Amino acid sequence: MTRDTSRPALGRQGRPVDDVIAELAAKRADDVRWQDGRAFGMVFDGGPAVHEVAERAAVLYLHENALNTRAFPSLASIQSEVVGWTADLLHGPDTAAGFLTSGGTESILCAVKAARERARVERGITEPEMIVAESGHAAFHKGAHLFGVKLHKTPVLDDWTADVEAMAELVSDRTVLIVGSAPQYPQGVVDDIGRIAALAADAGANCHVDACMGGLVLPFAEMLGREVRPWDFRVDGVTSISADIHKLGYAPKGVSVILHRTKELRRHQTFVFDGWLGGFYASPNLQGTRSGLPMAAAWAVMQYLGVDGYVELTRTTLDCADRMRAGIDAIDGLRVLGDGAYHLIALSGDPVDAHPLDVFALGDALERRGWFHDRQGPPDSLHATVSNSNVGVIDQYLAALRSAVAEVRGLSTDDRSTRYATLE
Ligand SMILES: *Cc1c(COP(=O)(O)O)cnc(C)c1O
Repeated sequence: MTRDTSRPALGRQGRPVDDVIAELAAKRADDVRWQDGRAFGMVFDGGPAVHEVAERAAVLYLHENALNTRAFPSLASIQSEVVGWTADLLHGPDTAAGFLTSGGTESILCAVKAARERARVERGITEPEMIVAESGHAAFHKGAHLFGVKLHKTPVLDDWTADVEAMAELVSDRTVLIVGSAPQYPQGVVDDIGRIAALAADAGANCHVDACMGGLVLPFAEMLGREVRPWDFRVDGVTSISADIHKLGYAPKGVSVILHRTKELRRHQTFVFDGWLGGFYASPNLQGTRSGLPMAAAWAVMQYLGVDGYVELTRTTLDCADRMRAGIDAIDGLRVLGDGAYHLIALSGDPVDAHPLDVFALGDALERRGWFHDRQGPPDSLHATVSNSNVGVIDQYLAALRSAVAEVRGLSTDDRSTRYATLE
């Protein structure tokens, strides 16, 4: 943030609470309107009843601190129960162990750190390397950057899954981690986790499965009888998995699970220090002070929904995504990238057209109609994370899409920027 001299200074005198809250509410005027289902991402809306549960839990735990679970044993049990339920959904063995983190990025950072430490301790590796497909989340690159691990980026195949042969060629005696995604974010397809995990196991390295998006979807899709490629702890060689409860788990922001196959593998993630004048310091993840709010809200939402509640939300969400895919494919000049069968959709211009549609111009036209997609690429595409938020409005969306396509045919925009995440 640069210094904004036009902003009002923080007053010497405080203001009445009603004023403060009214101004805060007014600030939201230009924010994306997720409440009416017009955003395909960022906020995942489980509906009014789920909001109520989360909000009541949040008020109870707004001020609590999980930094020291001896002071707050309730947060220790909340963490252990949420982690345990998630491990059950992911078919973790009895030895599975994990922690709650603030989100997918933190879970992934913990997985990278654990892989590096395991390799240092068990194999004496001092120049660690990891292998991640170009579809793997940017958080792995952040982890490589922060923890001094060299990252080899490998291509994807025509079906957008990781090219495992290309990964195999880069395995060396320095490999500490190989990553697969279930599903990957950009096109929503599930990598060949079986082969990726076998590769890692042969190298004595960790295999992390990034199920930040899929962790609270694929188990329920399987229960619904949908085909799900093996991806969880039932696959030999998978050592850790990340699953975000603040995405399709429908908890408010700030909560994800990092799971390891065993407590021994988990030990490499934690930090313990006993040489500070402030006393013994142990931390499970990257935070110090840790808000109890997201942990308690996740606990409450999971308890409220139960397995049946999630199965039902998954059924309607995946049906909605199927209708959206069919609607897109029915529009001349548009297509969906890949055979993603779950809740992530990449929408692009059909490259066989003589004048392919400019999907970024299409994104702008949709935004003018109040619908918000992230732009991504290469190749230029619009991304949708479909969730319960969008279920009731998908026909309206498809009508808006048809009208936006008609508007932008033959037009293009000079703005080629993509922006999954921004700084200021
Ligand atoms: C969202 C996401 C992440 C990162 O999670 P954050 O909660 O945004 O930090 C990682 N991987 C995948 C596949 C994701 O969809």
